[in-house]
Amino acid sequence: MSSEKILIIEDEENILEAVKYSLTQEGYDVFTSMDGEEGLEKAQEIRPDLVLLDIMLPKMDGFEVCRILRKNLDMPVFMISAKTEEIDRVVGLEIGADDYLTKPFSMRELVARVRNVLRRAALNPVENDLEDIKYGELEIHLTSHRVIVRGEEISMKPKEFDLLYFLASHKGRAFTRDQILEKLWGNEFIGDIRTVDVHVRWIREKIEANPSQPKKLVTIRGLGYRFDG
Ligand code: CA
Repeated sequence: MSSEKILIIEDEENILEAVKYSLTQEGYDVFTSMDGEEGLEKAQEIRPDLVLLDIMLPKMDGFEVCRILRKNLDMPVFMISAKTEEIDRVVGLEIGADDYLTKPFSMRELVARVRNVLRRAALNPVENDLEDIKYGELEIHLTSHRVIVRGEEISMKPKEFDLLYFLASHKGRAFTRDQILEKLWGNEFIGDIRTVDVHVRWIREKIEANPSQPKKLVTIRGLGYRFDG
């Protein structure tokens, strides 16, 4: 099995080298770029399993790189930044990064988090693949609109079903409330993000063994929700 490819886009050479060294030691195949434009080209060419992306970059900033990657290529993006305010923008702008760290960070933490993102991505089924989903005790049958939990059929409202199916079919990927609202309700609904929270609560009551300590549909603090299976 070939090792997983990671592309680091970072213009601070000492950080670039340190991160490259740590990830190479872990057995990853590491590629690097020092500006946003070239980084994006390399991402398209190399098709890495993960992109580690700085925010302040020459030529094209990390926000823009992330946005384009998200739109055109399906690969996990891990943001790193020197400033907490920028990381706030990562969340605020909802650009869909899979994880983020503020500099300075320990290489140990970075490696652990990178490994985690890659593991989640590997578990992710093919997107937009309309088919039945089965994760352990939970089954979601798309064509018959049935949800089965621990062998028992659960009754779900259409929006609950759609939300559960959407998150479950993107297992391991975090979505903001706004992204969920847009995806599931689109233009038909002018409301607020609490609609999403309410539906998540209803779904949890139906699928979680302990709804107050969800293991499947988890909350990502400050971001939104993720289906963990
Ligand atoms: Ca920088």
